Amino acid sequence: MKKKTAASPATSAAARPFVYRNRSLYCDGVSLTALAEQHGTPLYVYSASQISERFQLFQKAFASRPHTVCYAVKANSSLAILRLLARQGAGFDIVSGGELERVRRAHKPALKKVVFSGVGKQPWEIDAALKADILQFNVESEMELDLLAARAQALKVRARFALRVNPDVFAETHPYISTGLSEHKFGIDIKVARSLYRRAAKSKWLEAYGVSVHIGSQIRKVDPFAAALERVTSLVAELRRDGHDIRAIDAGGGLGIDYSDAPFNAAHQVDRYAAALAKGLASETAHLLLEPGRFLVAQAGALLTRVLVVKQNGSKTFIITDAAMNDLIRPALYHAHHEILPVRQPSGKRTITADIVGPVCESGDFFARDRAIAQVKPGDLVALLDAGAYGMTQASNYNSRPRPAEVLIEGTQVTLARRRETMRDLLAQEIL
Ligand SMILES: *Cc1c(COP(=O)(O)O)cnc(C)c1O
Repeated sequence: MKKKTAASPATSAAARPFVYRNRSLYCDGVSLTALAEQHGTPLYVYSASQISERFQLFQKAFASRPHTVCYAVKANSSLAILRLLARQGAGFDIVSGGELERVRRAHKPALKKVVFSGVGKQPWEIDAALKADILQFNVESEMELDLLAARAQALKVRARFALRVNPDVFAETHPYISTGLSEHKFGIDIKVARSLYRRAAKSKWLEAYGVSVHIGSQIRKVDPFAAALERVTSLVAELRRDGHDIRAIDAGGGLGIDYSDAPFNAAHQVDRYAAALAKGLASETAHLLLEPGRFLVAQAGALLTRVLVVKQNGSKTFIITDAAMNDLIRPALYHAHHEILPVRQPSGKRTITADIVGPVCESGDFFARDRAIAQVKPGDLVALLDAGAYGMTQASNYNSRPRPAEVLIEGTQVTLARRRETMRDLLAQEIL
């Protein structure tokens, strides 16, 4: 991959890098038809310039205070994307030892900008992160705090930690991705956090470095972020009075995008988000950690797929594609909406109403139901938009289907970021 520097601020902040040219869908300077011919389908296609652009929107919106954007790796863990972001100064939010290994492979110096989240960290994962000297462990229970102290003592290193507090703030989003209420498994009740910091201060292996919060994902209104941070900020003031030298406030991720075809101004959304966080922080000047995932990568990506069959069952029309729920599970799992565009631009406005589905043996295997879409026929290509986040990272081999390839587009240059799985890959781990 070529070295990539910051995107020029002059580039348009269009919601998506997928546009028609000469009646054919392109990702930046590359035709999707050509990509399908060269790399096959289903294929994940990502625009490097849009990812950089989104990252720079954050850099700009938070320029007035010390901050680090720690990209949430679970949204899209492609090494090529991690490297692209790391080279622009990003840190990373990880949730497993596997993600730690990805950061190491993508850009080793970025390990010192890693925050480690998750409710069930295992000793080997904690050890690996301690040895890598990551920035901060986001601790989610009293038990984990004890485990962290024990592992740090065993390795004779000090562990910088933040308690991830549960602020009991409601964020309007899908129930599966809302995390900031006391009924959720995440975080430590903000009311008991203070006593845990006091306890931790007794261990010379623990360093109370920050306080963290994360209230959920795909959050469109920014007020809940302000409310959560306000509670965190007053906790930080109390902790300082108690004598703890709190250096960082981790505001988490969760900023949402617009999956519909309504106009969406990403720059405006980031500015609103920054203003909400500033409100919650008031005069607090601690180093701000941010953990955006979806917002940086979702709209940069599409899943390119070919129509296999168009069939009629009773009154319903089904468009069956070579991509399925194993490649992109969001519609099945969250009833998520993805815009779907035919790669060849339709000449008229005529549409049919159809279900766009995959070949997997489950009725839950759908991308869209009763969707108005231009008439397509077998062999045609369609693109599922906004598939850059929680797409490939949630892909599986269900139905023994090899997972898709991934390409990263930089202007007119195409880089294969991950080759398509083969039959050999599919069976490699099994013992007979
Ligand atoms: C998933 C997650 C994120 C990223 O969420 P997005 O909605 O993708 O921005 C950030 N922090 C933590 C702790 C997470 O679990």
